[in-house]
Parts: sequence; C-alpha cells; structure tokens
Amino acid sequence: MEGFPLTRVSRRRLLGTGALTAAGAVVSAAAAPAAAKSATRPATAPAAPMAENAAADVVIVGAGLSGLAAARDLVAAGRSVLVLEARERPGGRVYGMPLGDGTTSEGGAEFIGPTQDRIAALAKDMGVATYPTYNTGKNVYYRNGRRSLYATDGILGAVPPDWGVVDLEVALLKLGGMAKDVPVGQPWKAAKAEEWDAQTFYTWSRSNSLSSGARFLMDEFVSSTLSVRSQDVSLLYVLNYIASAGNESNPGTVDRLIDTKGGAQESRFVGGSQEVPVRLAAELGDIIRYNTAVRAISADGGGVTVTADGLTVSAKRVVVAMSPAIAGKIDFSPALPASRAQLMQRYPMGSICKFVAVYDTPFWRADELTGQAVSDSGAIDATFDNSPPDGSRGIMMGFMNQANIRKLDGASADEVRTAGLAAFANFFGDKAKSPVRTAFQRWDNEIWSGGGPVGIAPPGVLTGFGEALRAPCGPIHWAGTETSDYWTGYMDGAVRSGERVAKEVEAAL
Ligand SMILES: Cc1cc2nc3c(=O)[nH]c(=O)nc-3n(C[C@H](O)[C@H](O)[C@H](O)COP(=O)(O)OP(=O)(O)OC[C@H]3O[C@@H](n4cnc5c(N)ncnc54)[C@H](O)[C@@H]3O)c2cc1C
Repeated sequence: MEGFPLTRVSRRRLLGTGALTAAGAVVSAAAAPAAAKSATRPATAPAAPMAENAAADVVIVGAGLSGLAAARDLVAAGRSVLVLEARERPGGRVYGMPLGDGTTSEGGAEFIGPTQDRIAALAKDMGVATYPTYNTGKNVYYRNGRRSLYATDGILGAVPPDWGVVDLEVALLKLGGMAKDVPVGQPWKAAKAEEWDAQTFYTWSRSNSLSSGARFLMDEFVSSTLSVRSQDVSLLYVLNYIASAGNESNPGTVDRLIDTKGGAQESRFVGGSQEVPVRLAAELGDIIRYNTAVRAISADGGGVTVTADGLTVSAKRVVVAMSPAIAGKIDFSPALPASRAQLMQRYPMGSICKFVAVYDTPFWRADELTGQAVSDSGAIDATFDNSPPDGSRGIMMGFMNQANIRKLDGASADEVRTAGLAAFANFFGDKAKSPVRTAFQRWDNEIWSGGGPVGIAPPGVLTGFGEALRAPCGPIHWAGTETSDYWTGYMDGAVRSGERVAKEVEAAL
C-alpha cells in the first residue's frame, strides 16, 4: 500500500519545509493562484497563502457516507486515497444538530429499517447500536383543522383513516403493482418508462383517485418521503423509489417506505446517526481533508487534476460522491458529455427543515401517543418522537417539508420557532408550547447540500438522462445515494453507492 499523502502534508507543516517527496505520494508547496494577482496589491499586503500539491491513486470528493464508504474499501484494497470535504465535518446529510446544551439531535438522516443491509453492516462494524423508534400508542391525524387519533397496528399500517381511504388503498395497490415492473436502479428500462416519465405524480394521482382525502394522502406520501410537491416529480421516479425500498431478495414496497414498524422508520442509532460517519472518518484518519472545497476537476492525459481550496491533487481517478445538483457546482474540463452535464442541471433537491423541541419529559407518551402526526396545515406535516432511548427527556421532531419551509424563507429563528411550536400544539396540546429549548436545521440553506433529503427527477429526466447518473466520464466516477439501486435517497443507498464505486474504480485502475 502506498503512503497517505496527508500524513506528509501534516509533517511538512510541522517541519516548516517546502516540499516532501515519498514513494507513491508527492506533497509540495506552490504559490496559490491568488499570488499571481499580488502585483496589483500594495507592497505592504500580506503574502498570499501557499497552496499545496499532492498526489494519490484516487481522490474522493465529499466525506458523506458514500465518499467514506468508497474510501474505506479503496484503502482496504491498498490504494492511496485522499478525501476532500468542503465542510469542517464528515457526514454530509447525516448531522448531529447541536441543541445548545452540549447534546445533539439528528438534524438530517435518522432512521434505519429492514433490508437496509449495507448501512446496518457499516454501523455494526463501527460499533453503533440501534434501538426501536418510539411507536407505542396512537398517531395523530390533523386535517381540515380537526384532530383525530388512530392506531397503526391495523391493516392500513401508518396510513391515517380518512374518508378517502378506500380510494387511497386502491391507488397504492396500483402503484405497488406498477413498481414491480420497474427494473431497480434502471427505471428508464421499464416497458412503460416513456409513459410513466411523461407525467408527474400529481397528474397520475388526480386521475387515479377521486376523493380529496386520498389526494391529500398521496401528496403527503411524496412530501414525507421526498420533500417535494407531487407536481415536482415524475411518476417514474416515484415508482423507482418504491421499487428501490428493498434488497436483492425482497422487492421494494410502499409499506416499507412509509411504515415505522417494519418500515424505513423502524429504528434509530444510539448516540445519533452521525456516530456512523464520525467513527468511520476517525478510522480513516488524516486522509480526509476538511474545509477543502473542490472547485475544479480536469481530466488530463489519462489522469485527473483536482483543484480545491488550498490544495491541488494529481490522481489516477476521482470519485465525486454527492448529489448531481451539488456536483454541478464543480468546474469540469474538458466539458463533460452533455448527458451528464445536463443531468446535473435537471436533478433538483427537495426543500427540507427539521425542527425539534426539547421538553423535560416526553409528555405525549403519558397521553398514549406515539408522537407521530400527519397534518395538512401549519408549518409541519409529519412528526416523530426523537427522545433518547431511556426517555430521560422528551424531544419532538417535526418535518417542515417542501412548500412549508419555503414559506418561511427570510423568517427569523423566532418566527420558525413560533410556527413549529404552534404545529406541535395542534397535535399534542398546549404543553407543547413550553419547551426547554428548540433547534432547527434548514437543508435548503446549506451551500454544500442545497436541500434534501434527496435529488429528484422531474418528468423526462430519467428516460432522457438517467443512464448518466452512474456512467463514469473517463477517469471521473460518480457516487452518492442518488446513484444507488436499492434505497436510493437513504443512508443505505449512500453506502451501497460508495461500495459500488470502489469496485468500479478498482477495476479501472
Ligand atoms: C432532513 C433529512 C432527513 C433524512 N432522513 C433520513 C433517514 O431518516 N434515513 C436515511 O437513511 N436517510 C435519510 N436522509 C437521506 C440521507 O441523509 C442521505 O441519503 C445520505 O446521507 C446521502 O449521503 P451521500 O454521501 O450520498 O451525500 P452527502 O451526505 O450529501 O455527502 C456529500 C458530501 O460532499 C460534500 N461536498 C459537496 N460539494 C463539495 C465540494 N465541491 N468539495 C468537497 N466536498 C463537497 C458535502 O459537504 C457532503 O459532506 C435524510 C436527509 C435529510 C436532509
């Protein structure tokens, strides 16, 4: 195995020397491009910072779960790897949101469920245990200003009983049946791909359900899984999302996407989901370089040059491990093939915010409520009990999804708090208005995420550009949950994509 370039970068800094060269990895200091402009500065201006040069077999851009999983496998295969991360932390869309008292709550990805085998295996390797999401009691359904309670252990599972429920069940059965005809991860190959990709989920749901209740619940299915409106997303994308909610031996189902028990929301990680990337990053050590945003990638003479803030790396291959929309911010030269370049212009992120309120106790449990609610009004359309495993304090989490959070564009933190607590009070009573503290994480305002939970495809994109999601462009390879076959959009999909890309790169080296 070749040496780790950043070990040498650190050593160079320590020694204060200009350059170090060693087998397989080169690190040197060169004037930053900004220094070229120094002639225009006054003679007293401070010297421009020195940019470093390095070399590695593979550069991975992004230390989210996909990038970290790829790095782990490539390092295990004996390759020299550098991971360049724009943020000051690993994990990307997996983040422990500070609550202001020294503790955190999941501000991004949180839940793990059955058939999510690859994130489960990684968490086990990292020594991160899981525990069941609190799910005892009844759920709240808040619709047309009326609050009702319902049990989730009946045949409808997590689906709230509404007047439109029969209508809805028929439509969901149809959807499940159609999803079975989608080749997982390659929806553009479905026999009816053109027809299904020519319409939005909204168009389909309006022609397949008559009641307003069923229509609302179908919109809510899209809002709570993708955080976009039904009008925004292609029917084919939704069908692939359903098909993807499984593994090689269990085909995806609608229930596995939406249910808590037996579904994607079944369990949580002890200490928070961020423990998985944080521990993996610690294991990978100083091959990860934080605060190092990649600005440009040029493919040259069979290899690549990756230009990041303060660092330029020559490598044989580069893995871009992030959503297509965020990858589109990088300058590629020569220009990428049009199918890939235009895919990155057509694969937008949803808008999403997680709002949490901390209470002395999970008081809703005493009222025999799970803490899960679905609502058609107010700033929050879905909630979960985010309390720690021992229930020593109560944490209520609400999703401010799609248009709800965009309505709060420009709102102050106090206004977001007021809107969040008003929604909690509608679902769980006035006690919800007096938390010990609140916090929220807006993903649409995060420069290095641009929204969440996942990039989605409007009509025409999967059939027109879908093949470009994973297809390498010369020495440039693509990872990220959006490229996964199973559990695309989830942590499991991110890990799967990292493992897939590591094999792809290994085969190409
Ligand atoms: C609110 C929310 C709730 C979610 N809930 C769940 C859940 O309960 N369960 C679940 O399984 N999944 C959930 N997800 C989805 C899950 O978080 C993602 O699927 C997964 O974390 C994506 O990992 P990734 O590696 O593909 O991308 P990311 O996590 O986005 O990683 C990409 C990384 O690249 C970095 N980066 C971007 N641009 C550059 C650049 N130019 N240079 C260097 N670095 C760069 C970013 O900072 C980031 O660290 C949720 C997501 C959100 C936002």
